Amino acid sequence: MDLRKNIAKVRADIDAAAVAAGRDPASITLLAATKTQSSDTIRAAIDAGITVCGENRVQELTAHLEDNAYQGARLHFIGHLQTNKVKYIVGRVELIHSVSSEKLLRAIAAQADKLGVVQNILLEINLAGEASKSGFSPGEALPTARLAAELTGVRLKGLMCIPPAAVQTGGNLPYFQKMRQLAVDIMREMVDNRIDMDVLSMGMSGDYQDAVAAGSTCIRVGSALFGPRSPMSMRKD
Ligand SMILES: *Cc1c(COP(=O)(O)O)cnc(C)c1O
Repeated sequence: MDLRKNIAKVRADIDAAAVAAGRDPASITLLAATKTQSSDTIRAAIDAGITVCGENRVQELTAHLEDNAYQGARLHFIGHLQTNKVKYIVGRVELIHSVSSEKLLRAIAAQADKLGVVQNILLEINLAGEASKSGFSPGEALPTARLAAELTGVRLKGLMCIPPAAVQTGGNLPYFQKMRQLAVDIMREMVDNRIDMDVLSMGMSGDYQDAVAAGSTCIRVGSALFGPRSPMSMRKD
C-alpha cells in the first residue's frame, strides 16, 4: 500500500470530476474513513496529507484519541451511533455525519446542552429505503431539519447518505442527484430559519466521482486509500 500515491490519485480524480462539473475542487473535502486502521496508519495518512479523519466506531475513536493519532487533522464521526454512546462523541468531533433518528438527534442535542457546546451534525438519509440501513426517509428530512433548527445543542450543516453499493459506474448518480435536490428543497423551505446547510456528505471508494458530479462536498473514502479491509471487519456499520 502506497498511501501517498493513493491519496494523490483519489484527490486528482476528485479535482478532475469537479472541473468537469464546473465546480471548484477546493470546495470538496476528502475525508479518510479510518475504520479498522491502526493509530500508526492514521498518523501516516495525516503525514501524507489527509486533513479530515472519519471514524465509525466509538471504541476505535476513543482508542485513537488516547493514542493522539489524529494530531494535525480534524475528526468526524460517520458510523452508526447508539443513543447511549453520544456522551463519548458529542463535543469531541467537529461533525457527526450519521444522525439517523429523532431519538438520536434529541440525545445529541441534550448532551451538547449539558456540555455547553453546539454540535455540528448532518442528517443521514436512507434514499433507497433499504431496511439494512438507518436514516431518515426523504420525506422525513424536512420535518427533522425543522426540529434540528429548534434544538439549541445542534447546528444542522447538511445531509449524508450511503446509497446501495454501485453495480456499475454511474449507477448511484441518480441517488446523488436526489440528495442534492433534497438539500436544495430543505434550504428553500427553511430560508427563515437562517440555517447554513453547506455540507453534502456522499461518495465512497466505488462512486466518489459520480458524487462529485452531483454536488458532493465531502467524499468519505476508505479502501481506495488504505486498501481492502480484512473480511473480519467487513460487517455493516
Ligand atoms: C467504510 C465507510 C466509508 C468508506 O468506504 P470505502 O468503500 O472503503 O471507501 C464511507 N462512509 C462510511 C459511513 C463508511 O462506513
